[in-house]
Amino acid sequence: MDNCIFCKIINGEIPKDFELESENLVAFADINPSADIHILIVPKEHIGGIKDLNRSHDSLLSEIYEAVNKLVTENNLENDSYRVVVNGGKAQHVPHLHFHLLGGQWKKMV
Ligand code: AMP
Ligand code: ZN
Repeated sequence: MDNCIFCKIINGEIPKDFELESENLVAFADINPSADIHILIVPKEHIGGIKDLNRSHDSLLSEIYEAVNKLVTENNLENDSYRVVVNGGKAQHVPHLHFHLLGGQWKKMV
């Protein structure tokens, strides 16, 4: 979608190192981390937010949590603290669905 910063990252218009990339999603470090480890998991499809999800996204959502598990392992978070956060409404600032993986010590609210 035009003018969407995450679509621009996904299509390479804005360069970004991906922690993980598959056919349907990418993961990259948050530019303004709220925790020791703060990774965004982002579907390649432009989905605005939680409100736009439906049953057609079932397998995408499973894939997202598979990616979370992979990133948890890769970042040695299994025995540390970690959370997955999805903001919506006024708490969501980038209108392209994304999942925050936050690990270790929290610095601030996402
Ligand atoms: P939210 O408030 O849930 O929409 O979160 C948006 C997140 O995207 C924030 O944590 C921002 O720091 C992060 N963010 C915005 N622009 C970029 C970017 N160019 N690269 C990485 N993270 C970004
Ligand atoms: Zn987008």
